[in-house]
This record gives sequence, structure tokens and C-alpha cells, in this order.
Amino acid sequence: MAERRTEILVIGGGPAGLAAAEAASSHGKRVTVIDENPQFGGQIWRAEKQKLSGKAKELVDALEKNDVELIPSCTCVASLPEKRILALSQGRTFPIAYDKVIIATGARERFIPFPGWTLPGVFGAGGLQALVKGGYDISGKRIVVAGTGPLLLAVAAYLKKKGGNVLMIAEQASAKNLFKLGLATLKVQGKFLEAVRLRFATLGIKYSTGSSVTSARGKDALEEITVEGNGKSSTIECDLLATGYHLTGNTEVAELLDVFALEGMVIAYDGQKAATAEDFLYEHEDIFCAGELAGIGGVEKALLEGRRAGLAAAGVEGDTQEVAAEEERLGRFASAMNRTFELDRDTLLEIMTDDTIVCRCEDVQFGKIKDCDNFIEAKLQTRIGMGSCQGRVCGSACEALFGWGTNSIRPPIIPLRVSELANFTTEKD
Ligand SMILES: Cc1cc2nc3c(=O)[nH]c(=O)nc-3n(C[C@H](O)[C@H](O)[C@H](O)COP(=O)(O)OP(=O)(O)OC[C@H]3O[C@@H](n4cnc5c(N)ncnc54)[C@H](O)[C@@H]3O)c2cc1C
Repeated sequence: MAERRTEILVIGGGPAGLAAAEAASSHGKRVTVIDENPQFGGQIWRAEKQKLSGKAKELVDALEKNDVELIPSCTCVASLPEKRILALSQGRTFPIAYDKVIIATGARERFIPFPGWTLPGVFGAGGLQALVKGGYDISGKRIVVAGTGPLLLAVAAYLKKKGGNVLMIAEQASAKNLFKLGLATLKVQGKFLEAVRLRFATLGIKYSTGSSVTSARGKDALEEITVEGNGKSSTIECDLLATGYHLTGNTEVAELLDVFALEGMVIAYDGQKAATAEDFLYEHEDIFCAGELAGIGGVEKALLEGRRAGLAAAGVEGDTQEVAAEEERLGRFASAMNRTFELDRDTLLEIMTDDTIVCRCEDVQFGKIKDCDNFIEAKLQTRIGMGSCQGRVCGSACEALFGWGTNSIRPPIIPLRVSELANFTTEKD
């Protein structure tokens, strides 16, 4: 397939990417947006029955009006020299050349292993939500939602609405920290109301703070779990467990393009100097990052950052002081939220047993890696991180459990078939 060319390439069509594309295209730029999903909208606007609505529809309609090229089911798999990326779509790879690129690849759920987490019936919280949006019937199923982060409430509310019998939300964060976060929501318009709405939507569901699932058991599939916390332990019979430990940025594309992730922030790096952490919406000459890959902070923050990145890429003067103040408020709220849902390593390690699987692609158990000094050593000894997810699950688990960075982003960032590369050409249109 021949090379495509665009002025501004947006990688990721979630709130941040769509807002960026809208801002840039409204100023006359030729914009292309790619997203690995078959539909635009990202995680929060993942549509039921493939029908976008509300803000997502508004943005996509605006992009169509501005003649933005929208390429769904298209993944950025590598960076190429001369301001190009390698894209994969419909079983074929092809380069896309750009003048400027906006990386808006969002975030994914973080999974933390515990005994029994690989049993059928144990899902990621957002993963189960996505399956239900895609038509998976949970009517009457007994469900526990567990882990940490604001996503738990949103997922529990959604599953309840869809007929699931949600028995409990087990939140690892303490009641004290959650109370402090509640106070922080008062300072951000919309957040408090959203929190109250979710709490009402989950009324009747037991909300247990300072609690973790310590094991899941079942013969062929999940049958029961143990939840521990506040000096108590209980066994709960359930059909489904939806678990997630806050979110972690999809920084692989940014790292491929030499924009390094550091302590949750994306820091621009031009080979000589790194931008400061405060500059997380980093200013690299031709590369812009926006949204949750640069720090978890919710949809409003993603939209603002996207807009700012789109304007900057289009070379347009930035927004007003009020917008900057709003961004700062949202940034402060994001920091408070991330502190609240920070994982407690001691608690996580206490739950692990030597035979707990950490890397499910390569079947690597905790006991095989616990004495290693870093991820590379563990990888060399056990093949951890070398399976089909390329360390996306076990890498962030090891970061939480041992404080290891994975430090090994290599192209292609997802496994490719030889046939997908076979047609690769550097020919230009
Ligand atoms: C699983 C999950 C469920 C969530 N559910 C909720 C919810 O119910 N309510 C709520 O308030 N918030 C939810 N959130 C948080 C919400 O997604 C964010 O606040 C917001 O969507 C962030 O917007 P974004 O544009 O930065 O990222 P995203 O919405 O994550 O969008 C990023 C996009 O980039 C695409 N992408 C990633 N890598 C590539 C690549 N290599 N090539 C091409 N495309 C790529 C992805 O397919 C995705 O569409 C959820 C987050 C996750 C991870």
C-alpha cells in the first residue's frame, strides 16, 4: 500500500484526539485521525450498538464537516525515519508521513495479579464494561467489582443498569483518603455532581473501602472470591469479578517517537534536553501529546489538552487565561485523584503467592521473578513480557509490585504477521 501524507496526524480518536483534530482542522489544516478501534470515541465514549451520541457525535460530525480524514481500525505500530509512522489496517502496513503529529493514545486499565486472577469469569473492570456495551448479557449474574480507582463506581453503575446483580465494590483506597478526594471534587465544577450521581446510581451495592480481593477460586471458572480488609476476611460466591487498579498511560507510541514517559508524566526529549514535568503537555517541535497518556485526569482534562495540542500544532495562539485556569484546576484534581488511588506495594505483595501467575502470556509465576533485580533480568530468565501483550499487562504489574520500569519499547509495538509486513513499501502517492 502506498504512503499517505497529511499535515497533522492524530494518533488516537478518544476525547483528546478528537478535540485536537477539531481545533486543528477548524484552522484550515489537513488532518488525519487514526484509531485502532473500529469506532472513534475512545474509552469513555465507547458506543453501544456502534452509535455515537452527545459530545462524541458532535466532535465527529465537526471533523467530517472539516474534511478530516478518519481512519478507524488503524494502529500505529512503529515510527519510521523522516517524520513517518508505520500504520496497520486491514492486514496491511503502510507509512503515513506527517508534518506534525499529536499522540493521544489514552490509557488502559492496570491489572494486578492475585491468586486465581486468570480464571474464566475474572475480567478487567473496563473490559467487562466494553463487553457488555458490545452485547454480552449479564442479566442476573452475581458480580463483584474490585480494585481501585474512579472507574470502579462507573463500571458498577453501568453493570447494575444493564441488569447485573452487583454484590459489592471492594475499593483498596482507605475511607480517609476517599473522603479527602470527595472534598477535592467540590473545587471542580462537574466532578462533585458526577461523584454524587455515581454514588446514587450504585445505592444498594455494598461499598467496602480499604479492601482487596486476595484470591479467586473455581473448578473450571470463577465460583468464589475472598475479600480482605480492615481486619476482616469474607468469602463471596459470584459469577463474575470485574477488577482494575486505576489506569496506566499507553505511552508506547510516545516512547517510540522519543517522548519518554517518566513517573507517569510524558516528558519531551529532543535528544539533548528534556522538558520539565510541569510541561507535561510537552512542547516538542513537531510532536504533541494530549490526554491520558500524559497523566490520568478524566475526560474534561483530555478535551482541554487535546484542544490545546490541536491549536499548537496548527500554529495558532493559545486559549484564554480562563482556559489555563480551568486546566490548572483539573490538573490539581487529577493529582489528588492519583494520590488517592496510588497502590500500596506492601498490600499487593502480601497477596502474592509463589505460584501466582504474573505474566499470563508466558505463564510466568511470581516465585520465578521475585528475586530478580529488574524487568530485563526477569525477562531474560523467564520470557516475562515477551508474549502477545508485549508486557502491557505484566509490565505495569511489575512496576506496581517491584518498582521496575520496563524500558524496552521496540517496534512493532504489537505482534505483526509476516504477511502484514510483506506488502510494506516506502513508495509515495
Ligand atoms: C477501560 C477504560 C474504561 C473507562 N471508562 C470510563 C467511564 O465509564 N467513565 C469515565 O468517566 N471515564 C472512563 N474512563 C476514563 C476515560 O477514558 C478518560 O477519562 C478519557 O477517555 C481519556 O481520553 P483520551 O482521549 O486521553 O484517551 P482514550 O479515550 O483512551 O482514547 C485513546 C484512543 O487511542 C487509541 N489508540 C491507542 N493506541 C493506539 C495506537 N497505537 N494506534 C491507534 N490508536 C491507538 C485507542 O483505541 C483509543 O480510542 C475509562 C478508561 C479506560 C481505560
